[in-house]
Amino acid sequence: MSKVEFNMENLQKCICKTCPVQAESACAKEKKMKVQEMMPKMMESKMMPDPEMVPGLYCASGKASCGDLDYSKMCQCNECPLWKEYALPEGSPMGYYCRDGQAE
Ligand code: SF4
Ligand code: SF4
Repeated sequence: MSKVEFNMENLQKCICKTCPVQAESACAKEKKMKVQEMMPKMMESKMMPDPEMVPGLYCASGKASCGDLDYSKMCQCNECPLWKEYALPEGSPMGYYCRDGQAE
C-alpha cells in the first residue's frame, strides 16, 4: 500500500462522514458542520485545515480527536474508494483508523 495523502481530493472521497461510528457523536457533528462551512474557501485556496478539525480521512491523519465515537458500530472503510486505490487492506490497521491510527 502507499501512504494516503491528507488532501482535498481524498477528503471528498472519504465516507467517514456517513459512518455509524460517528453518527451519534456531538463532537464529530460539530466538526462536520464547520468543515462544510469552510469548504468553499478550502476549495478556492486548496488549503486543508488542521487534521484535528476534520472528522474523517483518519487513514491519512491518524486517530480521531473526538472522544465520543461508538466503536461498537461497523467501520465503513472497506466501502470507500480509497480502500482499493491505496490498497489499504495490505497495510495495518484494517479500518477503524479513527480508533487505531493511520494506515501504514
Ligand atoms: S479509508 Fe476510511 S478513513 Fe480513509 S478516507 Fe476512506 S472512509 Fe475515510
Ligand atoms: S475510520 Fe472507519 S470507523 Fe472510523 S469513522 Fe471512518 S469509516 Fe468509520
